[in-house]
Amino acid sequence: MANELRTKSAFEIGRLIRDKQISSPEVTRVFLDAAKADFSKAVGADDKINAFTDLTEEYAMHRAEEIQKQIETGENLSPFSGVPVAIKDCICTTNGTTTASSKILEGYVSPYDAEVVRRLNAAGTVMIGKVNMDEFAMGGSTETSHYGITRNPWDLSRVPGGSSGGSAASVAAGFAAFALGSDTGGSIRQPCSFNNLTGVKPTYGSVSRYGLMAYGSSLDQIGPLCHDVRDAAAVLSIISGPDKRDSTNIMDESFELCSVIHHFENVADKPLKGLKIGLPTNYLEMDGLAHDVRETIIQARNKYKELGAEIIDFELPLIDYAVPTYLIVSAAEASSNLSRYDGVKYGYRADGDDLLDVYYNTRSEGFGTEVKRRIMLGSFVLSSGYFDAYYKKALKVRALIKQAFDEALSKVDVILSPVCPTEAYEIGGQIKDPIAMYLGDIYTTSVNLTGLPAVSLPAGFSNNNLPIGMQLIGKTLSEEKLLGVAAEFQKVTDYHKKRAF
Ligand code: GLN
Repeated sequence: MANELRTKSAFEIGRLIRDKQISSPEVTRVFLDAAKADFSKAVGADDKINAFTDLTEEYAMHRAEEIQKQIETGENLSPFSGVPVAIKDCICTTNGTTTASSKILEGYVSPYDAEVVRRLNAAGTVMIGKVNMDEFAMGGSTETSHYGITRNPWDLSRVPGGSSGGSAASVAAGFAAFALGSDTGGSIRQPCSFNNLTGVKPTYGSVSRYGLMAYGSSLDQIGPLCHDVRDAAAVLSIISGPDKRDSTNIMDESFELCSVIHHFENVADKPLKGLKIGLPTNYLEMDGLAHDVRETIIQARNKYKELGAEIIDFELPLIDYAVPTYLIVSAAEASSNLSRYDGVKYGYRADGDDLLDVYYNTRSEGFGTEVKRRIMLGSFVLSSGYFDAYYKKALKVRALIKQAFDEALSKVDVILSPVCPTEAYEIGGQIKDPIAMYLGDIYTTSVNLTGLPAVSLPAGFSNNNLPIGMQLIGKTLSEEKLLGVAAEFQKVTDYHKKRAF
C-alpha cells in the first residue's frame, strides 16, 4: 500500500484524503519514510539519489496534523489539502533552510515565505523538505550543488537534469507528490524530460517571483513539476495570480484551469479539430539531436494529427542565437543579482584584514566554479567598452527572437518541439565541457527570452528505456489552451503513468 500510494498523482492523493480513505499524517509519513531512507545515506554513496538539501520532518508531521483537523471540520478542502510537496532550495521558506544549494548560504533560514509558498500553504499542502539544485540555478545537471550531485531515479548512473534536478528526482522517486522548481533557461522543462514528468514554465509575470532568489530576473519563473497535466494545472492555478510585491506581475487573478482538469472526462473523436500545431522542421535538423528524441517528436506529431489537429511544418529562425543570447542576458543579470552575497548581509563570511578582503575571500570561498564563471562573464559583458558589443547586441537579438515567435504564433496556436537534444546523460559526462552543457538548452532558452509559456510532458522512451519529453509552446497567457492540448495527449497515451520505482 505504501509504495502504491507513492505512485499516485497529487490529485489522486488529495481525493483519497478528502474521501477519508487515508489521513494527511498517514500520507506524509509514507512519503517522509521513503525520503528519509535516502536522506540518511552517506553523501556520495552510489545508491543515494540525494534529492533533499533539508528534510523538514518535524514541521511536516505537525503541519499534516493541523491540516487534517481543518479537513475534518471542512475548513480546508482544496484539491491538494494534505498533499506532500517538495520545494526547490532557491524558493524562500521560513521552515527549513534556503541556500540555493550554495556554500555561501549554508544554514540560511529565510525570515519570510515566498508568495508561491504562502499560496500553497493556503491551499493546505504539506512541505516535506527543500530540494537540491545547481548552485544558484546555474547548470543543467544538478552537479554544481555544494551539497553533492543528485542522481536520476530512472538510472542512478545518470543526471536528473537541472537546475531543478532535486525537484524532479523527488517526484520521480516518490519522495513527494509534486514539487516546485524555477526555470530561467529550461530548468523545469529539461528535468521533467529526464524524469518522465509534466512541468510548466508559465508566462513571465504570471507567478510571483517574491521570495525566489534571483538569477536572471527578466527570465526567471517558478512553476510545477508533476506526474501529469492535471496536477500541473491544479498547482499552476494555486501559485499564479496577482502580487504587488513583484513589480513584473501582470495578473488580475489566478489562472482558471478547471477546464484542463475536466479534459479527462470529455470523450470526443477528434477533440483537437480546428487547432493548429506548428512544427519547426529546422529544430529537427540540428546537430546533436539524438535519433530517438527526433523519432519521439515525430510520433507525437502523428498522434496530434490523429487527434484532429492540423500540423503546419515551418522554419523558426534564429535558433542558433538562442543560447548565446540567453547566456549574455542571464549572466549580466546574475552578476548584478549575486552582488548581494558579500559576507555582510547574510550567509557565509570569510576572515579578512579589511572590508574589501572580507568581500574578496567570502566570494572566492563561497561561490562554486560555474557561478564564478557566470559572474565574470556577466561583469565583462556589462563593462564599458564591451556593453554595446555584447549586452546591447544580445538585447537586440532577444527582440528579434521575440518577433520570430510572435510571427509564428500568429499563424499557429501551439509550437511543438523537443525539450532537450538528448536523454539524461551519465554523471560527469558533460560537466567538464561547459559549452556542450550550454548547448543542451538550445530548445528551451528562447521561451524565457520571449516570456512565453511552455509545457514539457512525457512523450516516449529511448532505446535505453529512459524518458523523453516533448515541449509545447503557447502564446502569452494561453496556459489554459496549452495545458488542454497537453491533456489531450495524456488522455490517449500512457507514458506519464510509468514510474521509476
Ligand atoms: N541550464 C540552464 C543554465 O545553465 C538553465 C538554468 C535555469 O533555467 N535555471 O543556465
